[in-house]
Order: sequence, then structure tokens, then C-alpha cells
Amino acid sequence: MLPYGRQSIDPGDIAAVDAALRSDWLTTGPEVDRFEAAIAERAGVEHAVSVTSGTAALHVAYAAAGIEPGDEVITTPLTFVATAAGAALHGAKIVFADVDPATGNIDPAAVESLVTERTKVIAGVDYAGVPVDGAALREIASRHGLLFLEDAAHSIGSSQDGTPVGSLADLTTYSFFPTKNLTTAEGGAVVTADAELAARARAFKNHGLVRDRAVQRHPDEGPWHQEVHSFGLNYRLPDVLCALGTSQLARLDQFVARRAEVKTAYDEALGDLDGVELPAVPEGAAPAWHLYPLRVPAERRREIFEALRKRGIGVQVNYIPAYWHPVFEDLGYQRGLCPVAEDYYRREISLPMFPGLTDEDVERVIEVTREVVAA
Ligand SMILES: *Cc1c(COP(=O)(O)O)cnc(C)c1O
Repeated sequence: MLPYGRQSIDPGDIAAVDAALRSDWLTTGPEVDRFEAAIAERAGVEHAVSVTSGTAALHVAYAAAGIEPGDEVITTPLTFVATAAGAALHGAKIVFADVDPATGNIDPAAVESLVTERTKVIAGVDYAGVPVDGAALREIASRHGLLFLEDAAHSIGSSQDGTPVGSLADLTTYSFFPTKNLTTAEGGAVVTADAELAARARAFKNHGLVRDRAVQRHPDEGPWHQEVHSFGLNYRLPDVLCALGTSQLARLDQFVARRAEVKTAYDEALGDLDGVELPAVPEGAAPAWHLYPLRVPAERRREIFEALRKRGIGVQVNYIPAYWHPVFEDLGYQRGLCPVAEDYYRREISLPMFPGLTDEDVERVIEVTREVVAA
């Protein structure tokens, strides 16, 4: 079965991990600093905080944003549940805003209509790799004194009007899961231009430990002393995985280029099929295509999905609207809340999209998809 996403590991990646394993450090060492510096540079901001997953990155980012019980976070339902769960775990009420029918990205007009005096964060997701409307979301956020968070699990390597994802929002989170645009096996990062947000993120991912004597409450305790001022967790990404990440990051442009070729091939071969809609690209956007979300007629989606799987094309569906999960159902969220996102979900099928796809693989996906959809 051809998977919908897959990592690309080359001898250089393996050598980087091998060298890290032979070094004095396994967990927190020089490779962490190297990787964080490289991620920050790529994002175009000062600060990068590596963590153990994209989910951890969201949990950390919401902690840095100061999310507390009673706060509201406005986000998209067309995402992996972690975008919402990371805030819910801090006690936030999740408010779902509907999406733009063309891109599947959160609709700024819907966001605007949902802002209350309890809103603290607007969290968009760069669905499939297409950057959210950062200009509009930033404007709404600054007018209401909110933070704008971008879940860029799909979009490291994307840019908008020449500005890289990472520089568009107050806080940006990445995932380095194997199917994503680059991998550290499990891993993620929070990036920001704001030193205070970065410091809070760093504290939360390391138990809230304070080692700086200048800000300790009991600095005279002894040279061994470190103290906790607020609760945190251990989300430290190991040196060994950071070494893999630095090596992968150096390959990101190649990955993005191959993903773009696959996107173009699918667009050219599938656009004439009846009832099919191709992924849209907003003006000025240069997406790193994490997914290729094809939309087919809703009443045929299941049949097409099953036929493709049966013929060895490992398609996926991204995503069931987040509030359809029983955890939200049990809190009273009802189907129908965001009709555009629900319609998008009902028609969506993600075709295989990863840099290791050969031209023959792409041809096979196209041939089988055309046969199945036309049937
Ligand atoms: C993958 C993903 C996450 C979670 O990342 P993990 O590294 O798997 O924890 C969060 N949000 C979105 C949109 C994702 O695709």
C-alpha cells in the first residue's frame, strides 16, 4: 500500500544520528541549541523552543500565552484534535469558527463574530500547508488585544508574500512527526519573535525550573539550587533527535520542491474529473504541500475512499470536524455548528503526498484515481 505520507531518511540523516549517539550527550546537549537556532532562522524569528511533539508544542504555546480556566480560544474545526486539546487542557473554552470553503482555513470574518471579552487566543491551522490569512487574523488579534497562534504542523517551508511561516503569528507551532514536512521521529517546536513568550514556553517545557539566580526567591540556598515558580512538564526533545532535525531541515527545500511537483502533476491530471475540486492557492501563498486534499462528491466519498484503498492507494481523510469527537459532544457541541467545515470534511480525501514518491507512483495514483472517480 502506498501511504498518504512518509518520511525521507538519507545517509546524511543516519550519520547525524550516529554521531549524536556517540557523543557525550543523549538528551540536552549542543545539538538542541543547533537545531533551535536553525529552526529560528528558517522561521525568520529570534526564538525557537524544541519540544517532543506538535501536540506538546501546542500545549506549551497555550501555556506561554497564559491560557487559564475561563479563557476562550477561537480555532478551526478542520484540524487534528490537538489544536483544541492543547488549550482545553489549560481549562480554556474552545470556540470553533467556520472555515473558508476554498482553502479549508479558518475564516477571519467568522473569527471576528465570535470574539468576546473572554477571548485570549485566535489559533489558525495552515491546512494542507496553505498559510492562514495572517494579515486579517493579526489585525483582529491586535484590535482586540489577543494573541494570534498559528498551528503550522503542515506548513514548515511555506510562505505568504515572501514571508516565511513562523514570522506571521505571535506564536507558531511545528510538528516533526514522520508524515510532516520534516521529521525528528516525534518532535515539534514553538517559534516566536517575543522574548517573554519564548521564556514562558521554555519554562513550561522544563518543569517550570528557574536556574537564573537573579530571579530566584531563595538564591542563597546553595550552588545546587533551582526552583519552580509555576508548574511545567518535561517536553525536552533529545539531542539525538535534534541532530536528525538539523539534518532534515537542510533538506527541506528539496522536500518542498518535490511536493510541489507532485501537486502540479495531480492538478493537471485530475482537474477535469466530474464533481472533483482541487486544492486552492490564495494569492501570494507559496505552500509546502503537506497534504493533497482532493474533494469528491460527498455521497461518493466513502465508496471512492474504499476503492482507492483496495487498489493499494493509501488515502486518508483530514479531518473529522474536531467537535464531532465524543469529548466535545459530551460538552454539548453539536453537529451543524460549522457547516462549511463539515461540508469540506464530507468531500475530502488526501492522496499520497511525500517527497519519496517516484514518477511511477504518481502516475499510478493518477491512473487509479481517475478510474475510481469516473466509475
Ligand atoms: C500532526 C498535527 C498536530 C500534532 O502533532 P504531533 O507531532 O503528531 O503531536 C497538531 N496539529 C496538526 C494540524 C497536525 O497535523
